[in-house]
Amino acid sequence: AQTRIQALSSHLLPPIAKVAPGSSKPRVQDKVVIITGANSALGIGRATAHQYAESGAKAIYLCDFDASNLEAHKQEITQLYPGVDVHTRQFDASDEAKVKAVIDDAMDRYGRLDVFFANAGITGPNRVFTDISAEEFMNVYKVDTLRANSVFLAAKHAAPAMAKTSPQKPAPGGSIIGTASVAGLRSNAGSTAYSAAKAGVVSLAQTISFQLAGSGVRVNAICPGIIETGMTAPVYEAARARGSEKKIGQLNPMKRGGRADEVARVVLFLGSDEASYVNGQAWAVDGGLSAGHPFVP
Ligand code: NAD
Repeated sequence: AQTRIQALSSHLLPPIAKVAPGSSKPRVQDKVVIITGANSALGIGRATAHQYAESGAKAIYLCDFDASNLEAHKQEITQLYPGVDVHTRQFDASDEAKVKAVIDDAMDRYGRLDVFFANAGITGPNRVFTDISAEEFMNVYKVDTLRANSVFLAAKHAAPAMAKTSPQKPAPGGSIIGTASVAGLRSNAGSTAYSAAKAGVVSLAQTISFQLAGSGVRVNAICPGIIETGMTAPVYEAARARGSEKKIGQLNPMKRGGRADEVARVVLFLGSDEASYVNGQAWAVDGGLSAGHPFVP
């Protein structure tokens, strides 16, 4: 009887994958990571680079069309985490040839690419749709969906490299993460083009995740709520000047805005082996903002 129970329990309880002893961080050891939109000192891209460096990534590429802080970020990370190779690249994330070149560089140097965080993005004119021109709409739309924040460009060139990196399919393998927004999940009173563009990022992540079926490459979008970064700094500064900073978080169930590191930790998880079965999802990191509506009778 004992043998039968053992046989049954081993059937019901298949072996559990071992986690490195003492490790409390998601596993990204030896991973090669590309991050776009990494220049901003307050930004989600820089915060994510720190998370990956602290968790043992082998190499991190900091990419941005504004390179003014990239070298400083590189020095800071290599001082804090001496084991990690940090590279900086200045290019517009909408430039397909440059996106491909950074991926080729990673493959040439390391023979692998594990994570592509397509994070670069711009905000749009915060005006009602009747007050924005078609050109303004298209600029934000192009930059955030089809160009700068393009899960499309990242996936097109990163997925084949990642598939070469990960011959053992289906998982763990490469991870492509696009920064969408809570504005891409729910209507947003102010930003017409931004919301449409970010909904596009969510849709791209979902569609491409299906098209990459069986390749070992996962694709997800993250959807931050209101986070204090370079993008929202003017809003925060103006609110502080008025003494009304608390209003920013008023509609949020957590009664506050978020921090870049709170988004970065989710990006770390999505790029790690722990997220090996998370694919095609739009992960809100918004304090619960998108979970309901603010109506109070
Ligand atoms: P940020 O302005 O601090 O950082 C954005 C970075 O992207 C900047 O360094 C900028 O130079 C870079 N960038 C913009 N266009 C680029 C391009 N074409 N090529 C290369 N680099 C480019 O803002 P952030 O909040 O850290 O933004 C990161 C992402 O998060 C963006 O996609 C943004 O839309 C998204 N997001 C932000 C919030 C928020 O509240 N801050 C909320 C939801 C989504």
